[in-house]
Amino acid sequence: MAKRDYYEVLGVDKSAQPDGIKKAYRKLAIKYHPDKNQGNEEAEKKFKEATEAYEVLSDEKKRQAYDQFGFAGVDGMGGPSFNSQAFSGFEDIFGDFSSIFDSFFGGGGMGGHARGGRRANRGQDLRYDLRIDFSEAVYGVKKEIEYHRQAACPSCHGSGAKEGSGTKTCPSCGGTGQVRRSSGFFSIASPCSACNGEGTIIENPCSDCRGSGVVRKSQKVKVTIPAGIDGGKRIRLDGQGNAPQKGGVPGDLYVYIDVKPHPHFERDEYDLYCVVPISFPQAALGTEIFVRTLDDKKIKLKIAAGTQNGKILRIKGEGVPLLHGGGRKGDMYVKIFVEVPTKLNSKEKNMLKDFAEAHGESAEPKPYTLDQLRRM
Ligand SMILES: [Zn+2]
Ligand SMILES: [Zn+2]
Repeated sequence: MAKRDYYEVLGVDKSAQPDGIKKAYRKLAIKYHPDKNQGNEEAEKKFKEATEAYEVLSDEKKRQAYDQFGFAGVDGMGGPSFNSQAFSGFEDIFGDFSSIFDSFFGGGGMGGHARGGRRANRGQDLRYDLRIDFSEAVYGVKKEIEYHRQAACPSCHGSGAKEGSGTKTCPSCGGTGQVRRSSGFFSIASPCSACNGEGTIIENPCSDCRGSGVVRKSQKVKVTIPAGIDGGKRIRLDGQGNAPQKGGVPGDLYVYIDVKPHPHFERDEYDLYCVVPISFPQAALGTEIFVRTLDDKKIKLKIAAGTQNGKILRIKGEGVPLLHGGGRKGDMYVKIFVEVPTKLNSKEKNMLKDFAEAHGESAEPKPYTLDQLRRM
């Protein structure tokens, strides 16, 4: 049979705009869609013919070649099969309908595009919230956690079938794995719930799991928490999530980390911050103090004479190990807090008054100028 002219197929003239071509094809696609015309070979032929015509005429380059050389110009460029390009045109046309088309083609049959095909049976991922100590997050720790998961039934090894028993064709869907319901223009195919889209059901279900292939059980696993981890991060444990029903790949377990605050240290990424009090004479005269790191090392810190309240000193490399950072570490910052004595005996009071006088300070209050305030 000779091929009909593409313009004739779509019922548009040679000067038709892309919009008009799209509209014409949409009409035909809806009218002749195989899903609406099951078993009607003529409709299927028309549908393929229209799709092929649309595939060429909707593509500027192909249309040009077709206009110039006829079918010879597009030979090998188009074709009745649903290649990915044709499909993208499809989605473009139907927009919101693309999910419906997914389920049309999901079972295969039309072939050609990559998005179809059943996904491998995979179980759910699970979440476990784990609260750890501040220093456990900094230095890393191993923890054992216990949680409940859906696991493959040991009696039937996840198959759901009693030993020695096989499978039979699902009576609900007749083995196709799909059921159809009507919605608007089309009937929508969805996986059969009786057989989970598999088309077969178990003849004789396992009594321990009632044919589901899974049992709920408590499980303990060891979690290795790497040094340098921070709150909000999660650790994935491969395959420790729920097993799917009737066999397949289990999901993963995600351990979400929450870190308890520390009484003395605060953390910013990989740096640690702490506050160390010194006395007013220490600040004025200068001194040496010892500070303790998070891992309880004593580190000598030189306080220069005239150190002001709030000064921040850095101790290099005493911060948090970088996560998977090969031993590199952040820094520790010490904020100096100059303490003002609150209880003074009369001798101390007199000495401070003498000090103030010697320093040329008046006991009378004096206002700061705006300029001075700005510089503070
Ligand atoms: Zn079982
Ligand atoms: Zn079924």
